[in-house]
Amino acid sequence: MTLNQMKLVLVSTPIGYLGSGKGGGVEVTMCSLIKGLLSLGHQLIVVAPYGSVLPSGCSAAEICLVSGVEQPSWQHQERDAPMLIPPDGLLLKLWEQAIQLGKSADAVLNFSYDWLPLWLTPHVTADLFHLISMGGVSNVMKSLVEDLSKSNNHGRLAFHTYCQAADYCLSKEPVVVGNGFDLGKYEFQPSSGGALGWAGRIAPEKGLEDAVAVASALGERLLVWGVKEDLEYAAVVEENAPAGMIDWRGFLPTDEFQRQIGACRVLLNTPKWNEAYGNVVVEAMACGVPVVAYDRGGPGELVTSGLTGWLVAPDDISEMTAATSRINEIDRRECRVWAEKFASAEEFAQRVEDWISSIIKNKDASIN
Ligand code: UDP
Repeated sequence: MTLNQMKLVLVSTPIGYLGSGKGGGVEVTMCSLIKGLLSLGHQLIVVAPYGSVLPSGCSAAEICLVSGVEQPSWQHQERDAPMLIPPDGLLLKLWEQAIQLGKSADAVLNFSYDWLPLWLTPHVTADLFHLISMGGVSNVMKSLVEDLSKSNNHGRLAFHTYCQAADYCLSKEPVVVGNGFDLGKYEFQPSSGGALGWAGRIAPEKGLEDAVAVASALGERLLVWGVKEDLEYAAVVEENAPAGMIDWRGFLPTDEFQRQIGACRVLLNTPKWNEAYGNVVVEAMACGVPVVAYDRGGPGELVTSGLTGWLVAPDDISEMTAATSRINEIDRRECRVWAEKFASAEEFAQRVEDWISSIIKNKDASIN
């Protein structure tokens, strides 16, 4: 097998099945990478929780479904919490399969933000690579990533943005691969007269209450898409909002999500944490929707202030309100152009291929 055509095992997150929305942006990232890597001619085996479905047009990928108890997500644990592995844990089951399949593959690509796959890296014959999906939200994870970086495995780690990577004390410059989307699925909508929109998991780190405050200051409705991951938090946000102001749209499949979000005048993005990337920011831009975002984490690298939206000081609701009222100064076509230039599934897959193949080539060269 040549390096141009690799056999790759892609291992999904043990948080939820692909299509559940529980895995957040990781699900969409993984689906667009599957499509992109197939279009580059690679052979793929996807190891994923039972119930997962491959995106349309990806039947050439093999899927290996695994059942077990879902892993608790790191976002909602204390920074110094220990690693938990529930009995009959899905994480262990996924990795039993991945290690076996990885023995006859060129590489195994991990999408989960979990201790086990990182720890396994120097201990198994399978060639493991990790696309880190969050900043340093857990000390256990942070120190493992840093240990791998200091060992001769730095090159096996890749990040979505420089801001995300900066959460870790790395031994060398990070590999940053950005992200990518199947842009054919996102339709450009030229009309700039729509509502205010917000999208993401409904959870404290996403800061929905700030977008509500902006909508409230402007006396407008706010359309909200996403999984209500934290029901208690969602109820508090709703209680504190003017009655009927939040229009809950639920968690929609990409086709419908992009159709609805594309009709918005602006997407408000209000992260309270170091967002690793910010898929919804780019998905909105792919539909022509400009974004007003806090200049914090990934969105600060994705939005070009004055061209594709406005970046404002983190947590500054009045600055965000003022920027939102100037959104018609942004040309919606520039948003789509940015997405095409920097965030297509094809380019993303190419960056991932370059990353993995450069490490494999170097390894082969050092063996010969
Ligand atoms: N999403 C979706 N349907 C919805 C709302 C959101 O499929 O109704 C997806 C959206 O396309 C995005 C993901 O949820 O890819 C959220 O990812 P993001 O990187 O913005 O945040 P994360 O949840 O990973 O922190």
